[in-house]
Parts: sequence; C-alpha cells; structure tokens
Amino acid sequence: MTAIQLPIYLDHHATTPVDPRVLEAMLPYFSQTFGNPGSTNHDFGRQALEAVERARESVAANLGAEPAEIVFTSGATESNNLAIQGVAERPRRKGNRLISVATEHHAVLDPLAQLSRRGFEVTLLPVAPAGDRLAGCIDPQQVADALREDTILVSVMLANNEIGALHPLAEIGRLCHERGVLLHCDATQAVGKLPVNVSELAVDLLSLSAHKMYGPKGVGALYVRGKQPHVRLEPQILGGGQEQGRRSGTLNVPGIVGLAKALELSLELLPAEGPRLAELRNRLYAGLSSAIGDLRLNGPALDSGRRLPSNLNVGFPGVDGEALLLEMRDVAVSSGAACTSVSPEPSHVLRALGLDDDLVRASLRFGLGRATTAEEIDFAIQAVAAAVKRLQAMRP
Ligand code: PMP
Repeated sequence: MTAIQLPIYLDHHATTPVDPRVLEAMLPYFSQTFGNPGSTNHDFGRQALEAVERARESVAANLGAEPAEIVFTSGATESNNLAIQGVAERPRRKGNRLISVATEHHAVLDPLAQLSRRGFEVTLLPVAPAGDRLAGCIDPQQVADALREDTILVSVMLANNEIGALHPLAEIGRLCHERGVLLHCDATQAVGKLPVNVSELAVDLLSLSAHKMYGPKGVGALYVRGKQPHVRLEPQILGGGQEQGRRSGTLNVPGIVGLAKALELSLELLPAEGPRLAELRNRLYAGLSSAIGDLRLNGPALDSGRRLPSNLNVGFPGVDGEALLLEMRDVAVSSGAACTSVSPEPSHVLRALGLDDDLVRASLRFGLGRATTAEEIDFAIQAVAAAVKRLQAMRP
C-alpha cells in the first residue's frame, strides 16, 4: 500500500489538476507555435489557427456538434453569460420571459437576476425536496406548465455542482423544441463525466469548462446550434470579431488545445472511471453512515441513476458547520456555505431542498476524481467521523 499524501483532495467539483498529458499537448503552443491565429498572412499565425481548428473539430465531434457551432470562451461563466444575455438582447425577440431552476450556478442565476432588474420576467422552478428519491431534480412537467408564448429561453443545468443531481435534459429539450423555445444547458459539471450529445439532449446552447475535466483554468466553450434553429446571439465582448463575431478577443491557443485534449482523454477514460468513482463514492457514504449514526444524504438517492458518480453531499445534524470546516484540515472538501464570499452565505442549492440553515452549514460536499484511491476514501471516513463525533459530543 502506498502512503497517503495529506491533505487529501476531495473537491473535484471546484476544480481538477491539469492532467500531465494535457499539459504536454499544450506546451508547444506557448513559445514555439506562438502565432496569433488571426494572423493568417504568415506561417506563425496559420499554424496556430490550424491547432485551434483541430481542437474545434475534436470538441465538436465529442459533443455530436459541427465545428462552426463551437465558440471558445474564457470558461463556463462567460459561456453562460453569452448564452443568456446573448439570447435576451437579440433585437426582434418574441418575448421577455426566461425560465430556469432555483439550484442553478450563480453564473446562470446572476445574469438572470440582472435581466430581471432590466424588466425581463424570470421564473425559477423549484426542485424535488429533501427526502424525495430524486431530491434536487426538476420534473419536466413543470417546464411544460411554465412555457408560454412569450418565453424566449429555458436554462437548465445537466449536473448540479453541489449535489450532483442530473436533470432530465432530453425530455426538457423535446418540450422546448415542440414549443419553439430555445434551451440552454450549463453542462460544466457533466462534460467529461457523462456522455454528452447535443442532439440527444435537444439543446440549442451548451456551456462547458476545461478546468472541471483536468484541463486548464480560464478556457471553455459554448455550443451554439447552427441549424433547426440557427441560434443568433448578441455578442457580449466586442472587438476583433473572432469566433464569427460571437466572441471577440485573441484566442487562447494553448488553453483551447488543452480543452480539446482534456475532453478527449476524459471520454477515453470514462467507461472505467465512471463505475470506479461510483464505487468509491458509495464506499464513502457507507463508511460515514456506519461510523456516524445520524447523517443526511443531500440530493438524489445514490442508486437513482440521477446523480453524478463522483458526487456525495451529506449533512450532519446538530454539528456546528463552521467548527466542522475548521476540523477538516487533512481532507479538502467544500462546505454548505459559499466560503469564497466575505460573509459565507448558506448554499442556495441546499436551501432549495428545504434544509434549515444549520443543516445547510453542517453539510459537506465531496467530489471524487481521477487520482482518488480507496485508501484515501478510508482515511476520509475516519477523519470526518472523528470530527463529527467530537463536535456532536460538544453539543450543549
Ligand atoms: N457552472 C457550474 C455548474 C459550475 O460548477 C461552474 C464552476 N464552479 C461554473 C458554471 C463556472 O465555471 P468557470 O469556472 O469555468 O467560469
């Protein structure tokens, strides 16, 4: 048995390390093939452009899309902003109404909130509550009921970044297409972890990010359907007219090469990695359950087929969330509060399940990844159980 290196990284929903094979593919594009892909009058530029177009073909093929339907961006935040604001700001749109889900990432919710302040009508659909086998998932019927003549866009994520809930995108896609409403999907947590095909999902716009699948940070893509319908977006970044005018700015050539390589590699490893991660995740939950009597699974049942294999989210009733996080020195996980902000806010995703704020704060999200081993999982079980028991014993 190899010795475990501490701390253990179980926060792969936040980000992943760049795979050495991805790094190797990127390296020539920093100092050797460094040309600007826009400078097509000389070889330096043409070689860079060839690398970008090869990457575009690869990303498109791996999503079941056409190369011209891929717009490279700085990541999923930008892709989401471009999709949502880009549709809303088109001239001659048929209405002012947008539909999304309460548990979306802030990179979807915040652009929607801004549109709502500008007079658009935004409806956020609720999800199935805690206790339900499909907790955290939406029922496609709710989308059907919410669609109206003046609806211009529906935005539903594929996999939730906190509780791993998988929404029934293909069904929602069919509903939207029947009604002639565009569907955007934030697939940031799904691409590379599940097979994702834009035709099967019937989506018109789809966001993804390289750093969630062992690629570099600061690069992503937006799929934009080219026909039936041909989706037109109002560009959000203006300038040199790159990406067919849909996103100006000199292309991040090494990042784009890395994104394509990361996706290729993830899909190659997926058939073995999916079941391996599900098994480790189930081992983690079983271990925590037997060591700690009172714990709550947040999100869909592990055997529901509606949860990312690498995700676990559990709440520990009666435990002080802040103290719990301080105890997590050897295990890097995320808490039920957004600790990126100055004053941590309880997670809006766990709140949407109907959890009270104390349980939200006393919840931990585990994200397993490519390097996660059974030994690490066993260590994490011991470490978390010891911390929870210590804190439960301190309860007044
Ligand atoms: N959407 C989801 C579901 C995410 O998990 C994230 C990353 N936390 C983002 C969007 C934002 O992605 P990026 O970091 O590439 O801007």
